[in-house]
Amino acid sequence: MQQCAKTAIGIIIVAAGRGERAGSSVEGPKQYRRIGGKPVIAHTLGRFLAWPKTARIVTVIHPDDVALFETARGDLAGGEKVAVCFGGATRQQSVLAGLKALSGSNVTHVMIHDAVRPFVDEDLLERIAAGIDAREACLLPVMPVTDTLKRGDAAGLVVETVSRAGLFSAQTPQTFSYPAIVKAHEAAAESGRNDFTDDASIAEWAGLAVRLVEGSPDNVKLTLQKDIAMADARLNRTALPDVRTGNGYDVHQLVPGDGVTLCGIFIPHDQALKGHSDADVALHALTDALLATCGAGDIGDHFPPSDPQWKDAPSRIFLEHAARIVRKAGGTIMNADISLIAEAPKIGPHRQAMREKLSEILAITLDRCSVKATTNETIGFVGRREGIAAIATATVVFARENP
Ligand code: MG
Repeated sequence: MQQCAKTAIGIIIVAAGRGERAGSSVEGPKQYRRIGGKPVIAHTLGRFLAWPKTARIVTVIHPDDVALFETARGDLAGGEKVAVCFGGATRQQSVLAGLKALSGSNVTHVMIHDAVRPFVDEDLLERIAAGIDAREACLLPVMPVTDTLKRGDAAGLVVETVSRAGLFSAQTPQTFSYPAIVKAHEAAAESGRNDFTDDASIAEWAGLAVRLVEGSPDNVKLTLQKDIAMADARLNRTALPDVRTGNGYDVHQLVPGDGVTLCGIFIPHDQALKGHSDADVALHALTDALLATCGAGDIGDHFPPSDPQWKDAPSRIFLEHAARIVRKAGGTIMNADISLIAEAPKIGPHRQAMREKLSEILAITLDRCSVKATTNETIGFVGRREGIAAIATATVVFARENP
């Protein structure tokens, strides 16, 4: 039996258009408008990057859009794997540029996809891949036309009702044997044809058989401003809120002294907390809780006890640092809750001042700051007044980047 060459699917994302129909926007052409918190093209690229059968991706962009494109792929996992080339004056020329950029990459097939179809799904890609496996050279995803079709005349009158039997609307990714579509595109360019609006038309013109594949109703093309607004609303509606909680725990030893600092408040006492910094167990536990909400390690990673610069440091700088990390990651701090476990001193008289201190350090309202205290019923190391412990919980809502 003859051995088949291994299939390798290259992806061309066509993103060089100016998208005039979507109106002007400070965010640039429609493929760079934000839906669900990130640019349209980032959603599209994300779908193909996540598909295991993608061997290589080339995005064809407009030379004016380099900065927009770099921003769009900046946050994309695997974005560095996407190659880029510049398009031409027409969509057809842009696709040819993308095809040339894939030469020498060993791809056997190519999927040519509009950047402004961000809802392409894996089921559709798999249906097309099954067609490749069945040795089809050209595959076109389509949806049957469902509206009744009319032909009108220049005067705005209906001339006839057109039967919709056998009529389909074309989607992308249109998929081809790589050498066959390169040959068809080059032949079209050589014969001066530059008015094809999709790649299947070029394949048809070149005499290739194009096989219809069931498209996806979700795989819509964002053409008008309202399409972009609807896509944004759809993503925001389906996105789950990204709420995360983190916990933290800390203990410091009590030694003879003149007072302890808890939640940034100094309380005169016949003992002191031993530690490299001001040994504020409450703020240390809360710092860990905040760092935990974005996987940023723990307080020791950021402020090693071996570093002399943190000797006697006020612990609010650790907490402020953690809050900055959380906010930089897109987090909004919703709640901070600390339980102190201490036999003495009494926390009750200082609770309000402690909550106000947390509110000030974290820059959140007082009702989001909670301080509670309990004794350890005279048992254990806390009960013997050998140390003070603190447990903290932080709740943070993050901006959702991956609906
Ligand atoms: Mg500590």
